[in-house]
Amino acid sequence: MDTTFGVALLDLDRFKEVNDTLGHYVGDELLREAGRRLKETVRAVDTVARLGGDEYVLLIHDMNPENIPVIAKKILACLDKPFHWQNQSIDISASLGVSLYPAQCSDASGLLRCADIAMYIAKRSGKSYALYTPELDRTNCNDLSLKSELREAIQSDQLSLDYQPQIEHRSKCVVGLEALVRWNHPQRGFLKPDQFIPLAEDSGLIGPLTLWVLKTALNQMLILQQQGYDLTMAVNLSARDLQDTALPGSIQALLAESGVAPQRLILEITESAVMTNTSDALAILTELDRMGVMIAIDDFGTGYSSLAYLKRLPVDKLKIDKSFVMDMENNDNDAVIVRSTIDLAHNLGLKVIAEGVETHAAWDTLTILGCDSSQGYLMSKPIPADKLETWLRKSAWSSASTTALYTS
Ligand code: C2E
Ligand code: MG
Ligand code: MG
Repeated sequence: MDTTFGVALLDLDRFKEVNDTLGHYVGDELLREAGRRLKETVRAVDTVARLGGDEYVLLIHDMNPENIPVIAKKILACLDKPFHWQNQSIDISASLGVSLYPAQCSDASGLLRCADIAMYIAKRSGKSYALYTPELDRTNCNDLSLKSELREAIQSDQLSLDYQPQIEHRSKCVVGLEALVRWNHPQRGFLKPDQFIPLAEDSGLIGPLTLWVLKTALNQMLILQQQGYDLTMAVNLSARDLQDTALPGSIQALLAESGVAPQRLILEITESAVMTNTSDALAILTELDRMGVMIAIDDFGTGYSSLAYLKRLPVDKLKIDKSFVMDMENNDNDAVIVRSTIDLAHNLGLKVIAEGVETHAAWDTLTILGCDSSQGYLMSKPIPADKLETWLRKSAWSSASTTALYTS
Protein backbone atom coordinates (compact mmCIF):
# COMPACT_ATOMS: atom_id res chain seq x y z
CA MET A 1 0.00 0.00 0.00
CA ASP A 2 1.48 3.36 -0.91
CA THR A 3 -0.95 5.51 1.07
CA THR A 4 0.53 7.86 3.60
CA PHE A 5 -1.46 9.74 6.16
CA GLY A 6 -1.15 11.61 9.41
CA VAL A 7 -3.04 10.99 12.61
CA ALA A 8 -3.68 14.18 14.56
CA LEU A 9 -4.96 13.91 18.09
CA LEU A 10 -6.55 17.06 19.41
CA ASP A 11 -7.47 17.85 22.99
CA LEU A 12 -9.30 20.98 24.14
CA ASP A 13 -7.29 22.74 26.83
CA ARG A 14 -9.74 24.18 29.31
CA PHE A 15 -12.80 22.14 28.56
CA LYS A 16 -13.28 20.85 32.09
CA GLU A 17 -13.38 24.40 33.37
CA VAL A 18 -16.19 25.25 30.92
CA ASN A 19 -18.10 22.14 31.93
CA ASP A 20 -17.69 22.87 35.63
CA THR A 21 -18.52 26.54 35.53
CA LEU A 22 -21.13 26.76 32.76
CA GLY A 23 -22.66 23.29 32.99
CA HIS A 24 -22.70 20.12 30.87
CA TYR A 25 -25.25 21.46 28.41
CA VAL A 26 -22.92 24.29 27.38
CA GLY A 27 -20.04 21.78 27.36
CA ASP A 28 -21.93 19.51 24.94
CA GLU A 29 -22.78 22.42 22.64
CA LEU A 30 -19.17 23.49 22.61
CA LEU A 31 -18.05 19.97 21.64
CA ARG A 32 -20.55 19.93 18.77
CA GLU A 33 -19.42 23.32 17.53
CA ALA A 34 -15.74 22.30 17.76
CA GLY A 35 -16.53 19.15 15.73
CA ARG A 36 -18.31 21.24 13.07
CA ARG A 37 -15.42 23.67 12.76
CA LEU A 38 -12.86 20.88 12.49
CA LYS A 39 -14.86 19.20 9.72
CA GLU A 40 -15.09 22.47 7.81
CA THR A 41 -11.33 22.98 8.11
CA VAL A 42 -10.10 19.67 6.72
CA ARG A 43 -10.74 18.37 3.20
CA ALA A 44 -13.63 16.09 2.33
CA VAL A 45 -11.27 13.09 2.02
CA ASP A 46 -10.04 13.54 5.57
CA THR A 47 -11.84 12.19 8.61
CA VAL A 48 -12.77 13.90 11.89
CA ALA A 49 -13.95 11.77 14.79
CA ARG A 50 -14.50 12.37 18.46
CA LEU A 51 -12.60 9.88 20.58
CA GLY A 52 -14.43 10.69 23.77
CA GLY A 53 -14.33 13.45 26.38
CA ASP A 54 -12.76 16.50 24.79
CA GLU A 55 -10.52 14.53 22.42
CA TYR A 56 -10.82 14.43 18.65
CA VAL A 57 -8.82 12.44 16.14
CA LEU A 58 -8.22 13.63 12.57
CA LEU A 59 -7.02 11.44 9.73
CA ILE A 60 -5.20 13.59 7.18
CA HIS A 61 -4.50 11.92 3.84
CA ASP A 62 -1.20 12.31 1.97
CA MET A 63 0.34 14.17 4.83
CA ASN A 64 3.81 15.34 3.97
CA PRO A 65 5.98 15.97 7.10
CA GLU A 66 7.02 19.36 5.71
CA ASN A 67 3.43 20.53 5.68
CA ILE A 68 2.75 19.62 9.28
CA PRO A 69 3.31 23.12 10.74
CA VAL A 70 0.92 24.68 8.22
CA ILE A 71 -1.75 22.03 8.67
CA ALA A 72 -1.46 22.00 12.47
CA LYS A 73 -1.76 25.79 12.62
CA LYS A 74 -4.75 25.75 10.32
CA ILE A 75 -6.53 23.14 12.45
CA LEU A 76 -5.79 25.01 15.67
CA ALA A 77 -6.78 28.37 14.15
CA CYS A 78 -10.34 27.17 13.53
CA LEU A 79 -10.80 26.99 17.31
CA ASP A 80 -9.33 30.44 17.92
CA LYS A 81 -12.55 32.32 17.30
CA PRO A 82 -14.48 32.49 20.61
CA PHE A 83 -17.53 30.31 21.07
CA HIS A 84 -20.72 32.10 21.92
CA TRP A 85 -23.24 30.97 24.44
CA GLN A 86 -26.11 33.34 25.12
CA ASN A 87 -24.29 36.58 25.96
CA GLN A 88 -21.04 34.91 26.95
CA SER A 89 -18.03 34.50 24.79
CA ILE A 90 -15.91 31.47 25.64
CA ASP A 91 -12.25 31.33 24.64
CA ILE A 92 -10.84 27.91 24.14
CA SER A 93 -7.56 26.54 22.88
CA ALA A 94 -6.34 23.08 21.99
CA SER A 95 -3.22 20.96 21.79
CA LEU A 96 -2.37 18.74 18.88
CA GLY A 97 -0.12 15.70 18.58
CA VAL A 98 0.71 14.19 15.19
CA SER A 99 2.00 10.78 14.12
CA LEU A 100 2.67 9.52 10.59
CA TYR A 101 1.67 6.34 8.76
CA PRO A 102 3.63 4.32 7.77
CA ALA A 103 6.86 6.14 8.69
CA GLN A 104 6.34 5.97 12.42
CA CYS A 105 3.93 3.17 12.99
CA SER A 106 1.83 0.82 10.92
CA ASP A 107 -1.06 -0.11 13.16
CA ALA A 108 -3.95 1.94 14.45
CA SER A 109 -3.30 1.65 18.16
CA GLY A 110 0.42 2.40 17.69
CA LEU A 111 -0.39 5.51 15.66
CA LEU A 112 -2.80 6.76 18.32
CA ARG A 113 -0.29 6.06 21.05
CA CYS A 114 2.42 8.05 19.21
CA ALA A 115 0.03 10.94 18.57
CA ASP A 116 -0.98 10.85 22.23
CA ILE A 117 2.65 11.10 23.36
CA ALA A 118 3.24 14.01 20.99
CA MET A 119 0.15 15.77 22.33
CA TYR A 120 1.21 15.22 25.93
CA ILE A 121 4.59 16.78 25.14
CA ALA A 122 2.93 19.69 23.29
CA LYS A 123 0.74 20.40 26.32
CA ARG A 124 3.56 20.10 28.79
CA SER A 125 5.94 22.34 26.89
CA GLY A 126 3.23 24.96 26.32
CA LYS A 127 3.47 24.59 22.53
CA SER A 128 0.27 24.13 20.63
CA TYR A 129 1.38 21.10 18.58
CA ALA A 130 4.14 18.51 18.28
CA LEU A 131 5.10 15.76 15.85
CA TYR A 132 5.94 12.41 17.37
CA THR A 133 9.64 11.49 17.47
CA PRO A 134 11.31 8.53 19.22
CA GLU A 135 13.03 11.00 21.61
CA LEU A 136 9.61 12.11 22.83
CA ASP A 137 8.91 8.50 23.57
CA ARG A 138 11.91 8.31 25.84
CA THR A 139 10.79 11.36 27.88
CA ASN A 140 7.36 9.88 28.11
CA CYS A 141 8.68 6.44 29.08
CA ASN A 142 10.58 8.14 31.83
CA ASP A 143 7.35 9.67 33.14
CA LEU A 144 5.43 6.46 32.58
CA SER A 145 7.90 4.35 34.48
CA LEU A 146 7.95 6.93 37.29
CA LYS A 147 4.17 6.71 37.38
CA SER A 148 4.14 2.95 37.87
CA GLU A 149 6.97 3.21 40.41
CA LEU A 150 5.04 5.84 42.34
CA ARG A 151 2.21 3.40 42.99
CA GLU A 152 4.79 1.08 44.50
CA ALA A 153 6.46 3.92 46.42
CA ILE A 154 3.24 4.85 48.21
CA GLN A 155 2.77 1.27 49.37
CA SER A 156 6.36 0.55 50.35
CA ASP A 157 8.14 3.16 52.44
CA GLN A 158 9.89 5.23 49.77
CA LEU A 159 7.96 8.39 50.60
CA SER A 160 8.86 10.50 53.58
CA LEU A 161 7.91 13.83 55.04
CA ASP A 162 10.10 16.77 55.94
CA TYR A 163 8.68 19.33 58.34
CA GLN A 164 9.27 23.05 58.04
CA PRO A 165 8.71 25.10 61.22
CA GLN A 166 6.29 28.02 61.20
CA ILE A 167 7.28 30.80 63.59
CA GLU A 168 5.00 33.33 65.25
CA HIS A 169 6.27 36.91 64.99
CA ARG A 170 4.97 38.08 68.34
CA SER A 171 6.63 35.33 70.41
CA LYS A 172 9.42 34.42 67.92
CA CYS A 173 8.50 30.85 68.71
CA VAL A 174 7.57 27.85 66.59
CA VAL A 175 3.79 27.38 66.54
CA GLY A 176 3.37 24.91 63.73
CA LEU A 177 4.94 22.70 61.07
CA GLU A 178 4.30 22.20 57.37
CA ALA A 179 4.59 18.64 56.07
CA LEU A 180 6.41 18.47 52.70
CA VAL A 181 6.56 15.18 50.86
CA ARG A 182 9.79 13.64 49.45
CA TRP A 183 10.36 10.53 47.38
CA ASN A 184 13.54 8.61 48.05
CA HIS A 185 13.68 6.82 44.71
CA PRO A 186 15.87 3.67 44.77
CA GLN A 187 17.76 4.67 41.57
CA ARG A 188 17.20 8.40 41.17
CA GLY A 189 17.71 9.54 44.76
CA PHE A 190 15.58 12.17 46.49
CA LEU A 191 12.89 13.64 44.27
CA LYS A 192 11.16 16.95 45.04
CA PRO A 193 7.37 17.14 45.03
CA ASP A 194 7.40 19.20 41.80
CA GLN A 195 8.91 16.15 40.07
CA PHE A 196 6.20 13.70 41.02
CA ILE A 197 3.04 15.46 42.29
CA PRO A 198 1.98 16.31 38.69
CA LEU A 199 2.45 12.64 37.74
CA ALA A 200 0.40 11.56 40.74
CA GLU A 201 -2.34 13.98 39.68
CA ASP A 202 -2.27 12.66 36.11
CA SER A 203 -2.49 9.01 37.03
CA GLY A 204 -5.12 8.99 39.76
CA LEU A 205 -2.53 8.40 42.47
CA ILE A 206 -2.95 11.74 44.19
CA GLY A 207 -5.78 10.44 46.40
CA PRO A 208 -3.72 7.63 47.99
CA LEU A 209 -0.67 9.95 48.18
CA THR A 210 -2.62 12.65 50.04
CA LEU A 211 -4.02 10.10 52.47
CA TRP A 212 -0.52 8.73 53.08
CA VAL A 213 0.76 12.25 53.81
CA LEU A 214 -2.16 13.02 56.15
CA LYS A 215 -1.77 9.76 58.05
CA THR A 216 1.99 10.16 58.44
CA ALA A 217 1.74 13.82 59.47
CA LEU A 218 -0.97 13.03 62.05
CA ASN A 219 1.18 10.21 63.49
CA GLN A 220 4.04 12.67 63.80
CA MET A 221 1.69 15.08 65.61
CA LEU A 222 0.81 12.38 68.08
CA ILE A 223 4.49 11.69 68.81
CA LEU A 224 5.13 15.42 69.30
CA GLN A 225 2.11 15.79 71.55
CA GLN A 226 3.39 12.93 73.69
CA GLN A 227 6.72 14.77 73.94
CA GLY A 228 4.85 17.85 75.16
CA TYR A 229 4.84 19.97 71.98
CA ASP A 230 1.68 21.88 71.22
CA LEU A 231 1.93 22.63 67.49
CA THR A 232 -0.30 22.78 64.42
CA MET A 233 0.37 20.69 61.31
CA ALA A 234 -0.14 22.03 57.78
CA VAL A 235 -0.67 19.54 54.94
CA ASN A 236 -0.85 20.47 51.24
CA LEU A 237 -3.83 19.35 49.18
CA SER A 238 -3.74 19.17 45.42
CA ALA A 239 -6.41 20.63 43.14
CA ARG A 240 -7.52 17.11 42.33
CA ASP A 241 -8.19 16.38 46.01
CA LEU A 242 -10.86 19.07 45.91
CA GLN A 243 -12.82 16.99 43.38
CA ASP A 244 -12.90 13.99 45.69
CA THR A 245 -16.10 14.21 47.67
CA ALA A 246 -14.99 11.27 49.85
CA LEU A 247 -12.04 13.31 51.18
CA PRO A 248 -13.74 14.92 54.22
CA GLY A 249 -14.93 11.49 55.41
CA SER A 250 -11.42 10.03 55.04
CA ILE A 251 -9.92 12.96 56.95
CA GLN A 252 -12.51 12.58 59.68
CA ALA A 253 -11.58 8.90 60.04
CA LEU A 254 -7.83 9.67 60.14
CA LEU A 255 -8.38 12.36 62.79
CA ALA A 256 -10.47 9.99 64.92
CA GLU A 257 -7.85 7.24 64.57
CA SER A 258 -5.00 9.53 65.61
CA GLY A 259 -6.85 11.44 68.32
CA VAL A 260 -5.45 14.76 67.02
CA ALA A 261 -7.90 17.66 67.43
CA PRO A 262 -9.21 18.91 64.06
CA GLN A 263 -8.22 22.50 64.97
CA ARG A 264 -4.56 21.40 64.96
CA LEU A 265 -4.74 20.37 61.28
CA ILE A 266 -4.37 23.06 58.60
CA LEU A 267 -5.07 22.12 55.01
CA GLU A 268 -3.22 24.26 52.46
CA ILE A 269 -4.87 24.67 49.09
CA THR A 270 -3.72 26.91 46.27
CA GLU A 271 -5.85 29.75 44.99
CA SER A 272 -6.23 28.23 41.55
CA ALA A 273 -7.35 24.88 42.99
CA VAL A 274 -10.39 26.52 44.54
CA MET A 275 -11.10 28.89 41.69
CA THR A 276 -11.13 26.35 38.84
CA ASN A 277 -13.34 23.79 40.48
CA THR A 278 -15.80 25.90 42.34
CA SER A 279 -18.84 23.75 43.08
CA ASP A 280 -17.13 20.56 44.35
CA ALA A 281 -14.38 22.52 46.06
CA LEU A 282 -16.86 24.69 47.93
CA ALA A 283 -18.85 21.66 49.16
CA ILE A 284 -15.68 19.86 50.29
CA LEU A 285 -14.24 22.92 52.04
CA THR A 286 -17.55 23.62 53.77
CA GLU A 287 -17.62 20.06 55.08
CA LEU A 288 -14.01 20.28 56.31
CA ASP A 289 -14.79 23.58 58.00
CA ARG A 290 -17.80 22.02 59.70
CA MET A 291 -15.47 19.32 61.07
CA GLY A 292 -13.32 22.06 62.63
CA VAL A 293 -10.28 21.66 60.34
CA MET A 294 -8.40 24.90 59.46
CA ILE A 295 -8.02 25.99 55.84
CA ALA A 296 -5.22 28.14 54.41
CA ILE A 297 -4.86 29.53 50.89
CA ASP A 298 -1.31 28.69 49.76
CA ASP A 299 0.77 30.71 47.26
CA PHE A 300 -1.61 33.62 47.73
CA GLY A 301 -1.13 36.36 45.14
CA THR A 302 -0.12 34.08 42.27
CA GLY A 303 -3.64 33.06 41.23
CA TYR A 304 -6.67 35.05 40.31
CA SER A 305 -8.85 34.97 43.41
CA SER A 306 -11.96 37.00 43.23
CA LEU A 307 -12.26 38.75 46.55
CA ALA A 308 -16.02 38.32 46.52
CA TYR A 309 -15.55 34.58 46.19
CA LEU A 310 -12.80 34.47 48.78
CA LYS A 311 -15.15 36.03 51.30
CA ARG A 312 -17.62 33.20 50.80
CA LEU A 313 -15.04 30.48 51.38
CA PRO A 314 -14.55 29.01 54.83
CA VAL A 315 -10.90 30.08 54.91
CA ASP A 316 -8.89 30.76 58.10
CA LYS A 317 -5.54 31.87 56.78
CA LEU A 318 -3.75 33.38 53.78
CA LYS A 319 -0.21 32.30 52.97
CA ILE A 320 1.71 34.93 51.00
CA ASP A 321 3.66 33.35 48.16
CA LYS A 322 7.42 33.23 48.60
CA SER A 323 8.10 35.03 45.31
CA PHE A 324 6.76 38.29 46.82
CA VAL A 325 8.44 37.78 50.19
CA MET A 326 11.85 36.97 48.71
CA ASP A 327 11.85 40.08 46.50
CA MET A 328 10.15 42.41 48.94
CA GLU A 329 13.35 44.21 49.95
CA ASN A 330 14.33 45.06 46.37
CA ASN A 331 11.06 45.40 44.59
CA ASP A 332 8.53 48.02 45.61
CA ASN A 333 5.65 46.26 43.88
CA ASP A 334 6.28 43.09 45.85
CA ALA A 335 6.50 45.08 49.07
CA VAL A 336 3.11 46.63 48.28
CA ILE A 337 1.60 43.20 47.58
CA VAL A 338 2.91 41.83 50.88
CA ARG A 339 1.64 44.82 52.83
CA SER A 340 -1.80 44.75 51.17
CA THR A 341 -2.18 41.00 51.63
CA ILE A 342 -1.51 41.33 55.35
CA ASP A 343 -4.07 44.14 55.62
CA LEU A 344 -6.58 42.30 53.45
CA ALA A 345 -6.30 39.14 55.56
CA HIS A 346 -6.77 41.05 58.78
CA ASN A 347 -9.70 43.04 57.40
CA LEU A 348 -11.38 39.77 56.46
CA GLY A 349 -10.69 38.41 59.95
CA LEU A 350 -8.08 35.94 58.69
CA LYS A 351 -4.61 35.05 59.92
CA VAL A 352 -1.68 35.58 57.58
CA ILE A 353 1.58 33.68 57.18
CA ALA A 354 4.54 34.49 54.92
CA GLU A 355 6.72 31.87 53.27
CA GLY A 356 10.22 32.23 51.84
CA VAL A 357 11.71 34.31 54.68
CA GLU A 358 15.43 34.08 54.02
CA THR A 359 16.83 37.21 55.69
CA HIS A 360 16.62 39.05 58.99
CA ALA A 361 15.50 42.13 57.05
CA ALA A 362 12.49 40.24 55.67
CA TRP A 363 11.63 38.89 59.13
CA ASP A 364 11.80 42.41 60.63
CA THR A 365 9.71 43.97 57.86
CA LEU A 366 7.04 41.31 58.28
CA THR A 367 7.01 41.90 62.04
CA ILE A 368 6.47 45.63 61.50
CA LEU A 369 3.71 44.97 58.94
CA GLY A 370 1.88 42.84 61.50
CA CYS A 371 2.27 39.46 59.80
CA ASP A 372 1.18 36.72 62.21
CA SER A 373 3.73 34.04 61.37
CA SER A 374 6.42 33.06 58.87
CA GLN A 375 8.39 30.16 57.56
CA GLY A 376 11.60 30.14 55.57
CA TYR A 377 15.24 29.16 55.33
CA LEU A 378 16.21 31.90 57.83
CA MET A 379 14.51 29.98 60.61
CA SER A 380 14.87 26.50 59.17
CA LYS A 381 14.83 24.47 55.97
CA PRO A 382 12.37 21.58 55.96
CA ILE A 383 13.62 19.03 58.52
CA PRO A 384 13.55 15.23 58.10
CA ALA A 385 11.40 13.45 60.71
CA ASP A 386 14.36 11.90 62.54
CA LYS A 387 15.98 15.32 63.11
CA LEU A 388 12.81 17.15 64.14
CA GLU A 389 12.93 16.48 67.86
CA THR A 390 16.53 17.73 68.10
CA TRP A 391 15.62 20.93 66.26
CA LEU A 392 12.63 21.53 68.50
CA ARG A 393 14.79 20.97 71.58
CA LYS A 394 17.72 23.11 70.49
CA SER A 395 16.65 25.84 68.13
CA ALA A 396 16.53 29.44 69.28
CA TRP A 397 13.09 29.58 67.63
CA SER A 398 11.73 26.94 69.94
CA SER A 399 10.35 27.62 73.40
CA ALA A 400 11.64 24.17 74.36
CA SER A 401 15.20 25.48 74.08
CA THR A 402 14.47 27.99 76.84
CA THR A 403 12.29 25.69 78.93
CA ALA A 404 15.08 23.14 78.72
CA LEU A 405 17.27 25.60 80.67
CA TYR A 406 14.84 25.51 83.57
CA THR A 407 14.09 21.81 83.54
CA SER A 408 17.65 20.52 83.27
P1 C2E B 1 4.49 25.03 49.12
O1 C2E B 1 3.37 24.35 49.84
O2 C2E B 1 4.31 26.46 48.78
O3 C2E B 1 5.75 24.77 50.03
C1 C2E B 1 6.79 25.65 50.21
C2 C2E B 1 7.98 25.29 49.36
O4 C2E B 1 8.92 26.34 49.50
C3 C2E B 1 8.70 24.02 49.82
O5 C2E B 1 9.28 23.42 48.67
C4 C2E B 1 9.80 24.58 50.71
O6 C2E B 1 10.91 23.74 50.83
C5 C2E B 1 10.14 25.85 49.97
N1 C2E B 1 10.70 26.87 50.87
C6 C2E B 1 10.41 27.06 52.16
N2 C2E B 1 11.10 28.10 52.67
C7 C2E B 1 11.83 28.62 51.66
C8 C2E B 1 12.74 29.72 51.57
O7 C2E B 1 13.02 30.44 52.50
N3 C2E B 1 13.29 29.95 50.35
C9 C2E B 1 13.02 29.16 49.27
N4 C2E B 1 13.61 29.43 48.13
N5 C2E B 1 12.15 28.11 49.33
C10 C2E B 1 11.57 27.84 50.51
P2 C2E B 1 9.08 21.90 48.32
O8 C2E B 1 9.20 21.06 49.56
O9 C2E B 1 9.94 21.59 47.16
O10 C2E B 1 7.57 21.82 47.88
C11 C2E B 1 7.13 22.41 46.69
C12 C2E B 1 5.64 22.35 46.55
O11 C2E B 1 5.19 21.01 46.38
C13 C2E B 1 4.89 22.85 47.78
O12 C2E B 1 4.84 24.24 47.75
C14 C2E B 1 3.54 22.19 47.60
O13 C2E B 1 2.73 22.94 46.73
C15 C2E B 1 3.91 20.89 46.93
N6 C2E B 1 3.86 19.82 47.93
C16 C2E B 1 4.76 19.50 48.90
N7 C2E B 1 4.33 18.46 49.64
C17 C2E B 1 3.10 18.12 49.13
C18 C2E B 1 2.12 17.12 49.48
O14 C2E B 1 2.27 16.34 50.42
N8 C2E B 1 0.99 17.07 48.71
C19 C2E B 1 0.78 17.96 47.67
N9 C2E B 1 -0.37 17.85 46.97
N10 C2E B 1 1.66 18.89 47.34
C20 C2E B 1 2.82 18.98 48.05
MG1 MG C 1 2.17 24.69 51.28
MG1 MG D 1 3.51 28.14 48.92
